Amino acid sequence: MTDDDERTIPFCKPAIGQAEIDAVVEVMKGGWLTMGPRVKEFECAFASYVKANYAISMNSCTSALFLSLVGLGIGPGDEIITTPFTFAATVNSIVHTGARPVFVDILDSSLNINPGLLEDAITDRTRGIIPVHFAGVPADMNPLTRISKKHDLRVVEDCAHSLGAYYKGKATGTFGDAGCFSFYATKNITTGEGGMVSTNDSRLAEEITVLRLHGFSKDAWKRYDVGASWEYEIRVPGYKSNMTDIQAAMGLVQLNRLEEMNHRREKLAQAYSERLKQIDGIVTPPNVKGRCWHIYHLRVANGLKQRNKLIRALNRRGIGTSVHFISLHLQPAYAHLGYHEGDFSVSEAASSSILSVPLFPDMTLEDVERVCNAIIEEL
Ligand SMILES: *Cc1c(COP(=O)(O)O)cnc(C)c1O
Repeated sequence: MTDDDERTIPFCKPAIGQAEIDAVVEVMKGGWLTMGPRVKEFECAFASYVKANYAISMNSCTSALFLSLVGLGIGPGDEIITTPFTFAATVNSIVHTGARPVFVDILDSSLNINPGLLEDAITDRTRGIIPVHFAGVPADMNPLTRISKKHDLRVVEDCAHSLGAYYKGKATGTFGDAGCFSFYATKNITTGEGGMVSTNDSRLAEEITVLRLHGFSKDAWKRYDVGASWEYEIRVPGYKSNMTDIQAAMGLVQLNRLEEMNHRREKLAQAYSERLKQIDGIVTPPNVKGRCWHIYHLRVANGLKQRNKLIRALNRRGIGTSVHFISLHLQPAYAHLGYHEGDFSVSEAASSSILSVPLFPDMTLEDVERVCNAIIEEL
């Protein structure tokens, strides 16, 4: 074994520089830690980046999804369509409103919702669709938007993977009623934990803003400021889902670096694909126009056993891996929905063949080479 072989390559590492550290320290010294001027600034910068009229920050994308649905009036008796090939948060946010998640299978090419299957899943209880832009590949928004208009359905985009991705020149998160972004530690920009809703709907923006902080009328967060009004009105029993200035300060620096960091991810992804595309038994991810690279996922053609063996072998060599995702309809949490093995064959096939390998801006091309060599040797 050479020294190189002993070095571990984590699955992901947030790209935090001195600028993020300085920005956070400045807030900490300033005496206003929670939601305040930095949050406002971050929301403005974010709205202008995705070209949405409004951006409302959150403590997570999970909260962003949940409050978007609540703000749109989704609740018990309603059905919301999404795919089983997503993170738990997409579906949990539906369940917590009291609505019922209805799954539609994905396309094998993009692993995004199959618009051709949507109309069959629509009932008179269907109120909305949550497309997930998996791995940074935009879902096929044109047919989806056409169908949602035809059936008067709301659309909430799960953009947790797709900050910096464009569909026909327009940022993901600006097609539906709301777009929900994540700033979790592994995502394309991070605030430790955090999220954002983008919307062009002023009524929805106002509703979500009120729901995010206890149901207080709009500017009540300023109530401890000298000279601010002490009066406040609680309009609805709201939630506690706001972002802090500490997070926003970090987010502002990260957002400024997004293009550069996404460019770096793209370069690394291309290096992976260049090396792996000729390898028998490996299917590399789609390199579609407008996508951003959140995760780099491979499909192992020979199925579950070989995929699992490869994960073990890579981990033994100190290379971090992950599986995005295990199809949700097979998870015990959603057994009450009544789905069975075989119901979503494309999602199931993806679940048993997929494998995500390390991808983060501070990774080197030598790291990519080492992961590729390990894959080729262990396959
Ligand atoms: C990470 C993720 C979320 C949740 O984001 P949080 O900010 O951690 O709440 C939602 N959907 C998808 C597809 C994700 O990957």
